[in-house]
Amino acid sequence: MGFISMNLVTLLYLVASVCFIQALKGLSSPATARRGNAFGMAGMAIAALTTLALIAKLQAQAAHGGFGLALVALGIVVGGAIGAYLAKTVEMTKMPELVAAMHSLIGLAAVCIAVAAVSEPHAFGIAAPGEPLPLGNRIELFIGTFVGAITFSGSVIAFGKLAGKYKFRLFQGAPVVFAGQHVLNLVLAVLMVGLGLAFVFAGGVEPAWPPFIAMAALAFVLGVLIIIPIGGADMPVVVSMLNSYSGWAAAGIGFSLNNAMLIIAGSLVGSSGAILSYIMCKAMNRSFFNVILGGFGGDASAAAAGGAAAAQRPVKSGSADDAAFLMSNAESVIIVPGYGLAVARAQHALKELVTKLTEHGVNVRYAIHPVAGRMPGHMNVLLAEAEVPYDQVFEMEDINGDFGQADVALILGANDVVNPAAKDPKSPIAGMPILEAFKAKTVIVNKRSMASGYAGLDNELFYMDKTMMVFGDAKKIIEDMVKAAE
Ligand code: NDP
Repeated sequence: MGFISMNLVTLLYLVASVCFIQALKGLSSPATARRGNAFGMAGMAIAALTTLALIAKLQAQAAHGGFGLALVALGIVVGGAIGAYLAKTVEMTKMPELVAAMHSLIGLAAVCIAVAAVSEPHAFGIAAPGEPLPLGNRIELFIGTFVGAITFSGSVIAFGKLAGKYKFRLFQGAPVVFAGQHVLNLVLAVLMVGLGLAFVFAGGVEPAWPPFIAMAALAFVLGVLIIIPIGGADMPVVVSMLNSYSGWAAAGIGFSLNNAMLIIAGSLVGSSGAILSYIMCKAMNRSFFNVILGGFGGDASAAAAGGAAAAQRPVKSGSADDAAFLMSNAESVIIVPGYGLAVARAQHALKELVTKLTEHGVNVRYAIHPVAGRMPGHMNVLLAEAEVPYDQVFEMEDINGDFGQADVALILGANDVVNPAAKDPKSPIAGMPILEAFKAKTVIVNKRSMASGYAGLDNELFYMDKTMMVFGDAKKIIEDMVKAAE
C-alpha cells in the first residue's frame, strides 16, 4: 500500500465523491433508494481504503514508524461492528434518536481532530516543525471546533429528548425555558467568538491554548442551551439541522487538513441536511428560524389538555369485520398510513389486506403525507419493507384531489396528517397541508383510543357522521380485516 501516489489518492477521492452524489440522487425516490445506498457504501469503502493506504504511505515515510495504521484499522473494525449491530437491531421508530447519537459522534470527532491539528500541526502537514500554525488554518480550526462542539452537545440533548425514557430533566420532551434565555445565549456566543479570535490572532509558535479551550468549553455549553428550549415535537427537524451542522464541521476541518474528501462529503451532508430541515419545516408549517432559535413545541401540552376534554364526545365505532365488509364492496379505497402503523409493525398484514381487496376488484391506493410517521420518508420505507408496489403509492399532491371520489378512506394509525383542524387559522397546526380524507364518502379510522396525535390536538374527522372508528392495535385489526375479507 505504501506505493500509492498523491494523484491516485485525489482520483480515488473524486470517485468516492461522485458515488456520494449518486447516493443522494438515488435516495430521492423509493424506487432508486437501494441503488443510492449501494453507491453510498461503495463511496465510503473507497474513501476509507484510500485513507488507509495514505496513512500506510505516510507511516512508511516517517522516520519513527509508529502504529497509526493499526490504530485506525482497529477503530474501523470496532466502530464498524458497533454500527452494523445497531443498524441491524434498531427499530424503525427509533431511527431519529440513533441518527442524533451518530451526529454527536461526528461533532466530537471534528473537535478531536481540531485539537490534534492544533497541538501537532506538522503531523498533518499544515506547518513545518517549529513554525506557527498559519492564520488561515487557525481560523478554520476555530470554526470546525465550535461547530463540532455545538453539534456534539446539542445532539446528545436531542438524543435524550427523542429517546424519551430518561429521568434527567434536560432529556425530557417538554421545553426548558427560563427568563433571559436568548440574551444569555447571545452573550455566550459573543464570548465564544471573542475567545476564538484571541486564539486566531495570538502570536508565537506555541498555540494559544487557554482561549482555545475556553472557546471549545463555551461551545459545548451553547450546544446544550440551544437545544433544551426546543420541544420534543420539533426534535426531528433539529436532528436534521444538527446533521447539517455536523457536515459543515467536517468540511471546515477538511479545509484545515487540505483533505478534498472531507470538504466534499462534509458540504454534501451540510447542504442536504439544511435543505431537508427546510422541507420538514415547510411540511409542518413551522418557521425555520423559530425552530433554530428554540422555544417551539411548547404548546403541545396545552393542546393535549384540550384534546383530552374533547375525547368525551360520542363517536361511531365498528369492528374489523364491518370495515372489511365496507371495503370489499367499495370501488375505490385510499389508505392513509401513519405513525401508529409503524409502531404496530403492521405493514405486512396491510399488504395482505390490499392483495385481498384487489382480488375483490377494489382499486386500492396508498396516500403518503410528507411528515407522516416520525422521519422523512418513514411511510415509504415502511411500505417498501413489505414490498408494496410503487405504483400503488401516491404522494399527497398527486392523490389529494381523488379523495372526493373515493368510497372509503382507511386511516391506519394516522392522526395529525388527516386533521381538518389545519384548515382553521386559529389551530396550532394551521396551514399544515393535510391529506383530505374527510372528503371520502366513508372514513374508517383505526387507532387504539381517542388519544391525540403528535401535535396533541383533537381531530374533528373522528366525530363526523360518515366516520367509523375501529379501535385496537393496527396489526391485530388489519389481520382481522384480512380474515373477514376472505
Ligand atoms: P400522529 O402522531 O399524529 O398519530 C399517530 C396515531 O397513531 C396516534 O393518534 C395513536 O393513537 C395511533 N397509534 C399509535 N400506536 C398505534 C397502534 N399500535 N395501532 C394503531 N394506532 C396506533 O401520526 P401521523 O403520522 O398522522 O402524523 C405525524 C406527526 O409527526 C405530525 O404531527 C408531524 O408533524 C410529526 N412529525 C413528523 C416528522 C416526519 O419527518 N415524519 C418529523 C417531525 C414531526 P392511539 O394512541 O389512540 O392509538
